[in-house]
Amino acid sequence: MRIIDMHCDTLWKLTDPGKNGDLMENDCSIDIPAMQKAGTVVQLFACFTDVKDYRNKGGYDAAYRHVHEMMDYLRKQQECYSEDLALAYSWHDVKRNNLAGRISAMMTVEEGGVLNGHMERLEELYQYGIRLMTPMWNYENCIGYPNSRDKTIMYQGLKPFGKEVITRMGELGMIVDVSHASDGTFKDILFLAKGPVVATHSNCRELAEHPRNLTDEMIGDLANTGGIAGLNLYGPFLGTKKESKIEEMTAHILHMLNEGGSEFPAIGTDFDGFDGMTRMEIAHPDELEKLWEALKQKGVSEAQLDKIWYRNAKRVLKGMAV
Ligand SMILES: [Zn+2]
Repeated sequence: MRIIDMHCDTLWKLTDPGKNGDLMENDCSIDIPAMQKAGTVVQLFACFTDVKDYRNKGGYDAAYRHVHEMMDYLRKQQECYSEDLALAYSWHDVKRNNLAGRISAMMTVEEGGVLNGHMERLEELYQYGIRLMTPMWNYENCIGYPNSRDKTIMYQGLKPFGKEVITRMGELGMIVDVSHASDGTFKDILFLAKGPVVATHSNCRELAEHPRNLTDEMIGDLANTGGIAGLNLYGPFLGTKKESKIEEMTAHILHMLNEGGSEFPAIGTDFDGFDGMTRMEIAHPDELEKLWEALKQKGVSEAQLDKIWYRNAKRVLKGMAV
């Protein structure tokens, strides 16, 4: 199995002051041995921030500093474990790392609010190696509106600054991630984005009615851009509140295949981005094998599974600017 996982929040967990461990050994879902066992070729590591953590402590500007801390942390980790892990800023880097037997780590930003209206921060993040950004998390920010059960929020889209950001990301060759966006923001992003648009960690709303998931129309629209969606293993997005079940994962993948075609589904585990599950049938990357087997049982070919695990995401990552 070769794996490209489009999303995890492990950096956020490991940079928490109360947390012990590092990328080699920790009590998170993702660590280097589990990735090696799984056959991970690329792991996208989100620099995620929740602005609520910085309320009265600097807000988005403090969150932006935390993004830098996470980028620096990953850099130091790869110096520490340079035999096993290397940063990648392009597909060329991924190929080189893979030949050397190293897992590629790519850095992304989840919560574009950290730009806080400063376009130069986008340029700076690019310089630091960010090649994909999730403009929204779960709050309204300087870019636009987030997913919400409140229709008045869900229909609202990009703000003028947000439109500039998406346009500039296209010029830079940064991938835009619509996971967490409102339906209005989704539409505006698709209108402005150059190249494939992705949902790094979102499932199907038809199967699990949650504003974080994609409608069938959205799946079709993303597929038309050449984009992908990464299957998220969080129970509520799969359909069962406190459990993450393989049976539901297979249903979402099959639905994505039906609605978006063979080039559409990918993996975006969201490992270490959520708590509160009483049962996780896949809790570490090496256990994704169980999902592979379950889909095979449903008649999905090995060639198609390789697309879902690896090739569909590879196609998108190859399109990034160097
Ligand atoms: Zn997320």
